[in-house]
Amino acid sequence: MYELTKAIEGRLGNIEWCDKRLTFPLRQRHSVDYVKNNVVLIGDAAHSIHPLAGQGVNLGFLDAAVLARELHHGIEVGRELADPSVLGRYQRKRKGHNLGMMWLMEGFKHLFAEQALPIRWLRNIGMSGVDNISVVKNNLARRAMGLDW
Ligand SMILES: Cc1cc2nc3c(=O)[nH]c(=O)nc-3n(C[C@H](O)[C@H](O)[C@H](O)COP(=O)(O)OP(=O)(O)OC[C@H]3O[C@@H](n4cnc5c(N)ncnc54)[C@H](O)[C@@H]3O)c2cc1C
Repeated sequence: MYELTKAIEGRLGNIEWCDKRLTFPLRQRHSVDYVKNNVVLIGDAAHSIHPLAGQGVNLGFLDAAVLARELHHGIEVGRELADPSVLGRYQRKRKGHNLGMMWLMEGFKHLFAEQALPIRWLRNIGMSGVDNISVVKNNLARRAMGLDW
């Protein structure tokens, strides 16, 4: 309890009780199909990624937004909600983007786990390069926020 209070700098006062510490592996997973037999997967049910850049929720929000848009579009053109062409459009629009983000996070994970000095040096040069080029930095930030994808 003392260690926990110290770790969060006493911001919540003294911790008086905590449960047993549990751990679970952080695994990247991706469903082959997002849509099957009238069942639609969104969010972590469809994909889970390493949380190092805090992208999991954004991907889920984008899934939900695109699914809502496609269902709405389907209704407008007189299709059933579960029409495979309606749900298929959702899968096509989201799968590639989710996969791209998953690959990127996996790449970052390996890059930041790398201990070899030349790789660390190159990584730091690259990161400060991106930090200094505002067009690239803003573009990446907009993508990370789910504003452009
Ligand atoms: C350690 C860690 C840190 C993270 N940090 C970030 C971060 O900083 N930023 C970020 O964007 N993302 C982060 N994520 C990822 C983020 O938590 C997930 O992407 C997000 O919570 C997924 O939302 P979801 O609604 O799809 O699924 P979940 O949040 O998993 O919600 C699913 C819900 O369904 C319920 N449920 C499951 N089975 C059943 C059932 N049979 N019947 C009824 N209910 C059921 C569960 O109890 C749960 O409440 C992190 C993940 C981890 C593990």
